[in-house]
Amino acid sequence: MNTENTNRWFNTLVVVLGKDSGNRLYMKREDLIPFSFGGNKARKAQMFFQEIDEGHHDCVVTYGSSHSNHCRIVANMAAARGMKCCIIGPSEVSDTTYNSRFMKLFGAELITVPVEQVHYTIERKLRKLRKEGYDPYFIPGGGHGNIGTEAYVRCYNEICAYERESNIHFDYIFCASGTGTTQAGLVCGQLLHRDERKIIGISIARQNPRGRDVVLDSIREYLGDAGISDEEIQKRTVFIDDYIGSGYGRDNEAVIATIKDVMIRFGIPLDSTYTGKAFYGMRQYLEEKSIHGKNILFIHTGGTPLFFDDLKAFER
Ligand SMILES: *Cc1c(COP(=O)(O)O)cnc(C)c1O
Repeated sequence: MNTENTNRWFNTLVVVLGKDSGNRLYMKREDLIPFSFGGNKARKAQMFFQEIDEGHHDCVVTYGSSHSNHCRIVANMAAARGMKCCIIGPSEVSDTTYNSRFMKLFGAELITVPVEQVHYTIERKLRKLRKEGYDPYFIPGGGHGNIGTEAYVRCYNEICAYERESNIHFDYIFCASGTGTTQAGLVCGQLLHRDERKIIGISIARQNPRGRDVVLDSIREYLGDAGISDEEIQKRTVFIDDYIGSGYGRDNEAVIATIKDVMIRFGIPLDSTYTGKAFYGMRQYLEEKSIHGKNILFIHTGGTPLFFDDLKAFER
């Protein structure tokens, strides 16, 4: 692996936000990864594209809605290489957003079908591309899978390096959990380091037990036979589904108030689908569990274009 190249992407800033809900709050600015507005999807996609480059593929196919940060970044990375990019998305979530505008700008081929036809459409598209002489690479939606998990094991390693350099220990790490790969990578990192702390995934959509099961599956798949007991894996996997709200976060007054507050106080944009919900959930969790005086690290997983889609909600 070309470390000179990867160092450009990794080691995003940890910033000190200061006292918040009785704790010392820090934030790892994954949103500042320097490509296409950054975020966890940039960290994951960068690793998928390493494999694409090494395999000399000439076309990339992926899946996601018009809101998808993953699809924006994949389309951008493909365009930067002059590579063909096909995005298959559900027609149920295909409204125009900043992310979908970027996908168009990057020249991606956008195919929308009813959600139940997505799987079949991906298969058919891959077959068609191969027939046309392409050598396509398929990236699972959201950058799910071992490669995506590995990306967040590396993020965990950066957190440990920061702790050593700054002589600090984070008692809690919070992140938004969607497909769960980000959380899975962080937990795998913790298990491999055998660190004592709590990693809390705040669900942005999925409910338990399924949401947690998906994270557990990713962890087990990544660790394989690393000799870590399933009991230990279960103990470290905390998936909280209490703050999903109903439907879009944009309709959730408390989430919108949180986004506004964080933008005003810290100058940091969050969004109503992922990071705003997670930040709100983190504050609620800390309060409900009466957690005080701890060092808390929030992982800002990106999604800045979604912040601009949300701006209108602030005017209400
Ligand atoms: C996709 C996404 C998440 C969720 O990450 P997963 O690895 O899918 O759990 C969180 N925040 C943002 C901004 C995202 O785009």
